[in-house]
Amino acid sequence: MNNDLNIQMVDLTGQYERLKAEIAPAVDRVITGGRYINGPEVHRFSEALEQYLDVRHVVPCGNGTDALQAALMALDLQPGDEVISSSFSFVASVEAVVLLGLKPVLVDIDPKTFNIDPEAFRKAITDRTKAVIPVHLFGQGASMDEVMQIAREHQLHVIEDAAQSLGADYSLNGKIRKLGTIGHIGCTSFFPTKNLGCYGDGGACFTNDDALAEKLRMIVNHGARKKYFNERVGMNSRLDTIQAAVLEAKLNHLDDFISRRQKAAEVYLRELKDVSFIVLPQKCEEASHTFNQFTVRVTGGRRDALKQYLKENGIPSMVYYPSPLHHQPVFAPYLKEGVSLPVSEEVSRQVLSLPMHTELTEEELIFISQKIKQFS
Ligand SMILES: *Cc1c(COP(=O)(O)O)cnc(C)c1O
Repeated sequence: MNNDLNIQMVDLTGQYERLKAEIAPAVDRVITGGRYINGPEVHRFSEALEQYLDVRHVVPCGNGTDALQAALMALDLQPGDEVISSSFSFVASVEAVVLLGLKPVLVDIDPKTFNIDPEAFRKAITDRTKAVIPVHLFGQGASMDEVMQIAREHQLHVIEDAAQSLGADYSLNGKIRKLGTIGHIGCTSFFPTKNLGCYGDGGACFTNDDALAEKLRMIVNHGARKKYFNERVGMNSRLDTIQAAVLEAKLNHLDDFISRRQKAAEVYLRELKDVSFIVLPQKCEEASHTFNQFTVRVTGGRRDALKQYLKENGIPSMVYYPSPLHHQPVFAPYLKEGVSLPVSEEVSRQVLSLPMHTELTEEELIFISQKIKQFS
């Protein structure tokens, strides 16, 4: 390593050290209390998150992928029904579609935000289309005004994938809403590196629809409202009480976590603004950016060279995501042959995510930026 800063891609243990006085006793209370499954912390955290998001129902579950699956199951779709999502994304949303015997339809993205291109969504709608999954990638909202408008016109369900954007604001028709509470169901993940991360797996669905909430609660609990009375096919997907205790303590800090990410992003944006081979993340007017990732585009075919150079200088970086989903072999049988989504394909070759977490110092951010500026 070529510096003594010990820069990390994420620093979960550093954040824990800072908040240990609040989190450790909460975890200890669960262990000494003995209510390891569905303990009081699960309910308390869900209610606190409902308040934070200003949403009627938070249904906790085992992880973000389960949340997406439960959301799709709650819509009672038929085999072969089509669900549209964007190709430049994490695999989970499309995986859930295929697991349920539904047909994934992948569309291209807006290169400025990396999120679903509303016009591409509109063009992909057929008689079989039943739902759309806009993913709010890297912490910034997809164009929800347009997505909701198009979905309304075609009577489609909207499932928001807010795994990377929990806590982000979105101005919908002049009213500020939290991402994940705009569509019919929102899904999130509490994977350790997300905006609100626990110390293992966790996830949740959100909805303002009472009937959908009731279905979601049944689905994550073996399809049962009452124990040993199973009304539909469900899953066993629970948020552990220990994880709920961690999340309850950390939820009080979510706005601070986001503001620390945003401050780190401001330093990158300031320091890197004149670097000719870097396209910086662009903020859109209607959505706040929570910078779960700080992802730049490296032009001129030099992404991998820059990554290697940073590594040699003791700076980690990651490629999220190296291949669009329509190029993943697992989805080939479900997609039209030879489908081409040029923006997703180009962006996959260019993206590089820089270190981003709540504990980064100005010194570290400036060091990283200086090194990038010296790359030639
Ligand atoms: C992390 C993530 C998920 C899945 O969450 P898990 O809790 O890891 O199952 C889904 N979608 C997106 C966009 C994600 O980033």
